Amino acid sequence: MLSSVTILVMNAGSSSHKVCLYQLPDPTPRWQGVVDWTKEMGKALVTTKTAQGKWEEVVPVTDRASVLRDFLATIWQGERRVLDRPEEIRVVGHRVVHGGQVYQQPVPIDGQVKATIREMIKFAPVHNPANLGGIELMEEVLPQVPQVAVFDTAFHSQMPLPAKVYPLPYRYFEQGIYRYGFHGISHQYVAGEAAKFLQRDLTDLKVITCHLGNGCSLTAVRGGISVNTTMGFTPLAGVMMGTRSGDIDPGILIYLLREGLTADDLDRLLNRESGLLGVSGISNDLRTILAAADNDRAQLAYQIFIHRLRGAIGSLLANLGGLDALVFTAGIGENSAQVREDVCANWEFWGIAVDPDRNHSRPCPIDISRDRSKVRVLVIPTQEDWAIAQACYEFVVKGVV
Ligand code: AMP
Repeated sequence: MLSSVTILVMNAGSSSHKVCLYQLPDPTPRWQGVVDWTKEMGKALVTTKTAQGKWEEVVPVTDRASVLRDFLATIWQGERRVLDRPEEIRVVGHRVVHGGQVYQQPVPIDGQVKATIREMIKFAPVHNPANLGGIELMEEVLPQVPQVAVFDTAFHSQMPLPAKVYPLPYRYFEQGIYRYGFHGISHQYVAGEAAKFLQRDLTDLKVITCHLGNGCSLTAVRGGISVNTTMGFTPLAGVMMGTRSGDIDPGILIYLLREGLTADDLDRLLNRESGLLGVSGISNDLRTILAAADNDRAQLAYQIFIHRLRGAIGSLLANLGGLDALVFTAGIGENSAQVREDVCANWEFWGIAVDPDRNHSRPCPIDISRDRSKVRVLVIPTQEDWAIAQACYEFVVKGVV
């Protein structure tokens, strides 16, 4: 058994940079920080949290890398530090959105891994550059410390071909245009936690995991393997989301292109101006939509959201051949009893029945199904950072890094 291992987890995105420091095997982060680039032009909101308290500061941004360097240094310098020296960090784990067809597991980062992440920028133009930036920053700040990449696409890499391949001319599949799926770290983590919670072996279980947050995706997990998922070649596919359309008739895109919209116009329309926001016209946040009881468009947006979630579950179920557990996770999945109730309504004939009292109970993880429900309906908080830290820890235990 190892003594405690200090692991830093980075989740670098286009709008924020999240960092979490763990002392494994303790699952409680010792230090958590977020740099939010979106609050004000030329400024960033920096939030830090330790056992000593929580701090928020607005800092000027001339270049992002120097803001991040200063931000990271507060882990081992100054009055809020939790480490004496940066060398105490044993491994840095990175969430990487797109690992292409190559990576099916977490990997220690080397030149080849970086080259693949760079190559996949063509398929993930917003996320992979930010992930690569985080890796290169850590190479500069902690040059001696090994780094590990954990991919959002990896969990879906074993999906059977009928779920993966689009009915386009086959050459497009050969060019890498197929369903990759995303949110894999979350789906894999909550499926594993569901098995632990039910005291069952994951290899014997059929589970549908519903990751409902700002982005939403559902995955069918059979025997611990993702066999189908709603997101596709990009994270735009599948169910309706806060600002993303999810699946629409591709003929609409052809029509709009002929009407004069450019590729950039379509990108903005489908990724930022659609979904709950697009239909309601008021918000991408489900709390605001639910609170707007007298707003017809907000109500319609909610109804479409539920309609599409139910449709997606039905479609995943069709090829899963049974269901032991339906799992809700992420911001909406964990917090909205209304969504869970509406998604599961009138499915007793499929053996899904939610108990209204349990649905409002806490703490999580929790089983919210009725005793007679054949399918267990679970609410399990997702912990992507913790899942990444565990993957790094395994490498340390096995002597890989
Ligand atoms: P995430 O991406 O997992 O952080 O989820 C963020 C989203 O969760 C927000 O945009 C909200 O729409 C949603 N959310 C958080 N809390 C609630 C709640 N109590 N009821 C409904 N939706 C919620």
